[in-house]
Order: sequence, then structure tokens, then C-alpha cells
Amino acid sequence: MKFEDYRLNPKVKKALAEFGYKRPTDIQYKSIPNILKGEDLLAVAQTGTGKTAAFAIPIIDMLYEQKKSERRKSDVNCIVLAPTHELAVQIHTVFERLAKYTTLKSMAVIGGVEQDPQIMKLYKGVDIIVATPGRVFDLISQKALLTHHVEILVLDEADHMLDLGFIKDIEDLIRKLPKRRQTLFFSATINDKIKKIAYSIVRQNAIRIQLSPKDPVAKKVEHSVMFVEMDHKRFFLERVVRENPDAKILAFVRTRVRAERVKKAMERADIEALSIHGEKDQTDRSKVLKAFKEGECKLMIATDVAARGIDIPNVEIVVNYDLPEEPENYVHRVGRTGRARNKGQAYSFCSEEEKPLLEEIQQYIHKPVKVLNVKEDDYVDTLHVDLERKNDYQTLMDEIREFEKSKKSRKKRKK
Ligand code: AMP
Repeated sequence: MKFEDYRLNPKVKKALAEFGYKRPTDIQYKSIPNILKGEDLLAVAQTGTGKTAAFAIPIIDMLYEQKKSERRKSDVNCIVLAPTHELAVQIHTVFERLAKYTTLKSMAVIGGVEQDPQIMKLYKGVDIIVATPGRVFDLISQKALLTHHVEILVLDEADHMLDLGFIKDIEDLIRKLPKRRQTLFFSATINDKIKKIAYSIVRQNAIRIQLSPKDPVAKKVEHSVMFVEMDHKRFFLERVVRENPDAKILAFVRTRVRAERVKKAMERADIEALSIHGEKDQTDRSKVLKAFKEGECKLMIATDVAARGIDIPNVEIVVNYDLPEEPENYVHRVGRTGRARNKGQAYSFCSEEEKPLLEEIQQYIHKPVKVLNVKEDDYVDTLHVDLERKNDYQTLMDEIREFEKSKKSRKKRKK
């Protein structure tokens, strides 16, 4: 079934056509009719499945149909909660684009930026807010945001919000909302704790939707692992970048310090890189994300906290420079590639000490990750020998460049 055949307002259909969405994805196919009927939802769907539009399309359609010509001041009809600033802004952008031909107004309400302009905008009238839990609660406490007319509450990436310790903020917020409301609960993963919280928020007869529970990673992503020594990882990242000069590459590391260190190592090898992590302020993070999204720089080094849930078009390769400590983060990381109808590659660099983590990941995704035998490659072999002999990084890099040069001239001579 195509979107054209859905009973949606023509203004919503027009925006969908502009987006280039013709047919619903699986999660959209299962969610949209139920949301339009006013049902509560408990959906387990991994990232990259199109879940933002799965709730944004019916919400816009419903609110637009109901909308009275007189807008109430400081009164909001829908609150969407998301774990990070970046995700909130991204969801807001989807609402904004899909509601383009309607009179609905959406707004991102995030912490870390000045409050007064947000209050002013709310006062002028907003229908949908997309927020991180802390700031929205502050605004409600100050009565800058009135919640009497909230009809729909969406919790996106609920599992991540709980991981980040937002549970109290969420509970406090829910107490301020009308009891008669529609609640849509989205989580990428599910366990007993999340189920318990979900059922305390949604109605008893909520519709449950679970997408391919046995295969939580997008099928369009090819996974492979290379066994490399911790200290050699930078050379492998360099190699992935050089072998894929046109690809957008997102590399995940364990800590903020490592993110900066890897960025510097890449720059020493004349590879431009961006870094994104929790220590950067909001303005910086937005700038970095924009530069990467627009392809100004092809390599971004990120920690888990900063990059989960983010939709960046056309990331061809995800590199697990460090394996994630939590296996479910593997799913979130590789979910950055192979989005919607695209294909993706996920390379993991696994050191000896990380092998138990790889084991956990394989159990979690219910399949082995293909091993790439890097020793077969002569370039890497040479690197290994050299690395065993020397530790000086700079000298080594010079030697690698020399090696590359001589390889090229050998090729030329052969011709
Ligand atoms: P999400 O899981 O919401 O982050 O969406 C993942 C990607 O899928 C985004 O780049 C969306 O623009 C894209 N997408 C969502 N719905 C559709 C659709 N029906 N057809 C094609 N692409 C879609």
C-alpha cells in the first residue's frame, strides 16, 4: 500500500511526496493506522526503521484535523520526549517538514540554550514540542508551558532515556499531564525493567508492535570484525578512510579523551576529522553535526552518548574503533548506517582484551560477525613487522608513507 492510498490529509500527503516517501516502512505500516484510531502503542523498533515518521505522520494528521482556528496561548497538544538534544532537534525537523503545508507549529525545547526565547515562542503558540525531559519539566514548573491540553505523549528511545537516568523527570512530567491522553512508547530494546515502566505509562490495552526481535540489526548492514592490537587501531582507521575516499565514515570510541586522541592521530596522517562527545557544548555539537551531515568532512569520531539515535544521511561505514561495553550499543551504532533503503558496512576493531565483548555482541545479535583476516594483506603485514620493531609513531607514519610511495613506483615500473 502506498501513502497515496492512506486516509491522510492531502496537505500531509503533499509533504510526504516532497520527502520522497512513497511507501510506508514496516514500523510505519504497523503503527500509523493504530495511532490514527487513538490507540496507545508500545513499539520495539530499532533505529533506522523510519520510526520518527511512524508517529509524526499520524500525529500531524490528527492534530491538524482537530485544530481550531483560535490557538490557545502557551498551550501544547503533543509532547515528544527524546534522550538527547540532537535527537530532539532531528525529530522536530521531521515534524516541521511534514507539517509544512498545515498550520501546525512544532518546536524543539532543549536544555543548554537560553530559556527566554523558548518561553517567548511558546507564548506565541506551539502545537507540538519535542524536548529532552529536564528542560520541559523546568518550563512546566515555571508555568511557561501549560499541559492541560496535551492529548498525545511520545517517548522515543525510551530505553536510552532510562539509561541516562531520566526516569524521575519522566514520572514527574507524566503527573502533570491529563490522564486521558494517547501515549506512544518507542524503545529500541526491551527487557523486564522497560516493560514494567512502559506498562505503567501506556493504557492496559496498548497495541504492541515488535519488529524482527531475533535480528535487531538492520539487514542491509554487512558486519565484519578485524582482530587488531589496541595500539594499531589508528592505522586501520587510516586504511579504511584511504580505501574509501568518498564514503562518510562514523567511528565510535569508548571515551571523550579517546575521541580527541584519535582525531589528532588522523590529523597527523593528513586526514581531516570531526569529533563529537558529551564534553562539547551544544553549539559546538550542532556545528560538528551539520558539517558531517553536509559532507564538509567525511570522518566523524563519536562517543556513544553523543551519537545515538541521530539520523545522518548516507553514512556508508560505521567503525567500532572500540567495541561497545554494552552489546545493545552495538545495535545503535551500526544502526547509523544502512538506513531506510541504503546499504551499509560496519567494521569492528577488536583487540585481545575486547574479545569477551565481541562474544556478548554475537550472542545479542544472534549471529556471528564475519572475521576479516587482515594478516592476508601485505600492507598490514608490513605494518605489523614495523610496529613490533618500533614504537615511535611519527617515524612509523613516515615509514608507511615511504612504503606507499615505493609501492606506487614499483607499480609504475612494472607498467
Ligand atoms: P528513523 O528511524 O526515523 O531515524 O528514520 C531513518 C531514515 O529513514 C531517515 O533517513 C528517514 O528519512 C528515512 N525514512 C523514513 N520513512 C521512510 C519511508 N517511508 N520511505 C523512505 N525513507 C524513509
